[in-house]
Amino acid sequence: MDYSGEGEVLGMSKIPSAEEQLDFLTKVQRLFNESDFSSTYKYALLISLADLAIELGKDDDSELELTNRQIAERFIELYWQQSSPYKTSKANDSGVLYQNHGTQAAIIKAIQAFRDENSFNSPNAAKHSKEYKKLVTAVASTVAKQPINYLQNVGGGALPFLYERNTSSITLKIGVAYCLRRFQPLVQQLARSRWTDYIKKNAKNMPILGEKDDLSSFLFETSRKTLVQICKSLKEVYGNKCFYCHKATSKLEVDHFIPFSLYPRDLMHNFVLACPNCNRSKSDTLAAKEYLDMWIKLIRQHSNEMIRIGERVGVPADLETSLAIAKWGYGMATDTRVTFWMRS
Ligand SMILES: [Zn+2]
Repeated sequence: MDYSGEGEVLGMSKIPSAEEQLDFLTKVQRLFNESDFSSTYKYALLISLADLAIELGKDDDSELELTNRQIAERFIELYWQQSSPYKTSKANDSGVLYQNHGTQAAIIKAIQAFRDENSFNSPNAAKHSKEYKKLVTAVASTVAKQPINYLQNVGGGALPFLYERNTSSITLKIGVAYCLRRFQPLVQQLARSRWTDYIKKNAKNMPILGEKDDLSSFLFETSRKTLVQICKSLKEVYGNKCFYCHKATSKLEVDHFIPFSLYPRDLMHNFVLACPNCNRSKSDTLAAKEYLDMWIKLIRQHSNEMIRIGERVGVPADLETSLAIAKWGYGMATDTRVTFWMRS
């Protein structure tokens, strides 16, 4: 498998010029600074577009069509955990964080109602049910009417640089998918930190937030409890040994093969077991390409098991998506000459 930007070298595909990329970043910055964020939906939309561009986009400046339903599914994934109480709260407060300044956000309410009526533990476990498809329809309609409609309104005017709106989809404009892929860590980090601040600054959330300081992990990360389950299941599939040094040990930890700091969305195939030494040493870096080859072989071989574990613990699992993310991550690292991690 080739992870280098071969197309560019051969001149087969066109990519946005340095100037166009800078223009994109300037507009993203304006969007964050001058847009009216009356709820957290716009952050969710930016995160969804960046993720989908990585999974479905190409390394050239081509347009990319995304259906409202594809975007809605990402919203459900993002808001799922956030629709449950932040902690056991006192008195008559429900403990579910407010995602806007009026009454609770419609998407949170729809997900809550769905969870009350159905016993699924995650969107991943629910995805084949008829009820879930109805939820997607409802969320897609809200997403189309609200964030898709308003995201490109900046500072009182229109700045339609990201997409064109169609009846039931949007089309990312020429160069946009490329830029979202290229700058995804930046867009993700900005959207997540602004989202966390938004929740913190909302006065209605103050009684719920209290003294605890793990808001960002609650909003965006897989819970510790789920990670413990994942670790146990991975041991059953991969055995009690470190993926990187092969050492047999009972003290294995769950590692994101493609670092979470680079692609902050959990996918079952991306988890491997690492001994504490390798895990600490690898940290937020990408592993050398020999590990990449090993990992691709491993997840191809155990894909069905990963899908089964994912359905049980509620983490999305998809082989092709995981491979697309690896291709993107390694391609970008090669372009920017990142040093890969090797066990010393
Ligand atoms: Zn190790």
